[in-house]
Amino acid sequence: MAKCSVCGETAVVCYADARRCYCGEHFIEHFESKVKRTLEKYGMVKPGELVLAAISGGKDSAALLGVMTRLSRVMGFRVAGIHIDLGIGEYSKRSREAAVRLAGQVGVPLAILDLRELTGGYGVTELARMAKRPPCSVCGMVKRYLINAAGLEACADAVALGHNADDMAVYALKSFLTQDLEAIPKLGPKTESIPQLAVGRIRPLYSVSEKEAFLYAYLLGLPVNHEECPNVDQRQLEVVLKEQVTLMESRKPGLRTQLLSKLAKRLRDYPQPEGKPEPCRHCGLISWGGECSFCRLTKRIFGKPLGPKVREYVRRKLREAGIEPCREAGSS
Ligand code: SF4
Ligand code: ZN
Ligand code: ZN
Repeated sequence: MAKCSVCGETAVVCYADARRCYCGEHFIEHFESKVKRTLEKYGMVKPGELVLAAISGGKDSAALLGVMTRLSRVMGFRVAGIHIDLGIGEYSKRSREAAVRLAGQVGVPLAILDLRELTGGYGVTELARMAKRPPCSVCGMVKRYLINAAGLEACADAVALGHNADDMAVYALKSFLTQDLEAIPKLGPKTESIPQLAVGRIRPLYSVSEKEAFLYAYLLGLPVNHEECPNVDQRQLEVVLKEQVTLMESRKPGLRTQLLSKLAKRLRDYPQPEGKPEPCRHCGLISWGGECSFCRLTKRIFGKPLGPKVREYVRRKLREAGIEPCREAGSS
């Protein structure tokens, strides 16, 4: 049986590329120092700043909130959580329950935004059906929109996303294969804020694998909803590429990390989005062309955009969670 390279106790994990093994205690230490190095290397957060962590209820977001809460004590930043209830039946119900238990366990305030409260009872799947669009594309847009709205209303310095190295390698390969090169500049460890319009996003788990995130959440006993969303389609390109990334990493350990660290250095070499971001004429949040995707979609479905009521709704939910909104109602 393998032994921990630090203390000689029975190991719970071994790294093929670094030829090191760790027991539970030293794996937790190793994981946290790896995430700390990522935060420092990419200048993700400074002492005193507020990070709003997006918590889905799954294992990556559990690892994210766990590690950010523990690192906040040594690095001096503040953490709060945001959960979007997407209204996807029992899956969303259990994800929400896991997120609430997680936030309670690590001791951070959690604001919950419920999509059905904004749409008069419709969740992501129904909205996608009404708009005749794939559920994951509507879901991704809704999450980005609401998380950004919450970040702006809380005056967060950054929004933290739980994407791990496997996710990022999949997104990068997908962008290459489909030649969606404009998507690549958004795949780095950090995106900058745009004043009044968008909160910068950070990916603290950029250098850790899915397996590491899972093991960390498990060893800390963090509540997780392990269910898969019913909208996942096994034929989706992301699902196929995930299998390929796992295979690639088992044959060539370290290749995924090399891809991501090289990509992080070359983000500016790829085509940047055309045009300039501007406030949406309905809700004042970020848009490319004067109308944001959320307002466009809801206008198409309901005959009027729902964006204008989002900011007041978000402020109310932040307040209920004990996260003080930083703007007055009606300001942009
Ligand atoms: Fe949303 Fe698709 Fe993920 Fe389900 S699988 S949570 S619909 S992005
Ligand atoms: Zn050990
Ligand atoms: Zn809008």
